[in-house]
Amino acid sequence: VAVFFRPLEKIAAVIETYPRGIAGFRRYQELMSTEPEIADAPDARPAPALRGAIRFDDVSFAYDASRPVLRHITLQVTPGETVAFVGPSGAGKSTLLALVPRFYTPSSGQISIDGLPLAEMTLDSLRSQIGIVSQDVFLFGTSLRENIGYGRLGASDAEILEAADRAQLGPLIRSLPEGLDTMCGERGVMLSGGQKQRVAIARAFLKNPPILILDEATSALDSETEREIQMALEALSEGRTTLVIAHRLGTIRNADRIVVMADGEVRETGDHAALLSQGGLYTRLAG
Ligand code: ATP
Repeated sequence: VAVFFRPLEKIAAVIETYPRGIAGFRRYQELMSTEPEIADAPDARPAPALRGAIRFDDVSFAYDASRPVLRHITLQVTPGETVAFVGPSGAGKSTLLALVPRFYTPSSGQISIDGLPLAEMTLDSLRSQIGIVSQDVFLFGTSLRENIGYGRLGASDAEILEAADRAQLGPLIRSLPEGLDTMCGERGVMLSGGQKQRVAIARAFLKNPPILILDEATSALDSETEREIQMALEALSEGRTTLVIAHRLGTIRNADRIVVMADGEVRETGDHAALLSQGGLYTRLAG
């Protein structure tokens, strides 16, 4: 799975503006030097404020030409909709979602948002409107304030605390004698997996983007933590177009639509009940 999520990590890196001289930034540079870079087209223009109508038109993609990873994907997402992507490992879920912030460009076909082809927008203006919460969260060896504040540089303490509250991090911060000044990592608090995810959620609340990409954790969390994170993610996705790589039944059931992928193709779409009644791949995955 680590390999599969490299695209999302890299997008997160690009969006969250890595400071220099830390492990995370080195990793980011490493990725940048091993992956082909995508640049703005000469005639690219800043995107307007997006509503989040995302359209995939006959999109195919291959990391290397001999092995297609996505084949002829056509899919339309309406603004505010939550779409859960499920399917066996290697089906292409992460790759498909990595195309939205244009970490990669389709080999053929086109992706557009609100009718504008991605290739016609500047990368910055596109990526600044997409929030990513990945299961693999980087924390910097700086304060909690800075770790949450990466969501929107220049945010005030009040805004950071509000985002933290919405991500259910408030109780933790209030329990720490140094509050937002608490250092993270080896020289400060070691946050648990669930707390790190809440930091990522708080960053996304601060960023307040119209489009969200969620890569739900596969690792086991205790059920209390899991419920809190699920609630925070639900609140976060409210009113935003949300594409989620879903591993939890609760998330899948609550989605407006489920897209079942296998072998780089969309095999089934529908809501939970409709898919179950079809008795196809979804039923086998769910069982
Ligand atoms: P999982 O649920 O296990 O993460 P997935 O459905 O998200 O799987 P992808 O991660 O998109 O699937 O992977 C689809 C295929 O593309 C796999 O065969 C994978 O090995 C390959 N792949 C993923 N990332 C890269 C990459 N950066 N370079 C080359 N091949 C890759």
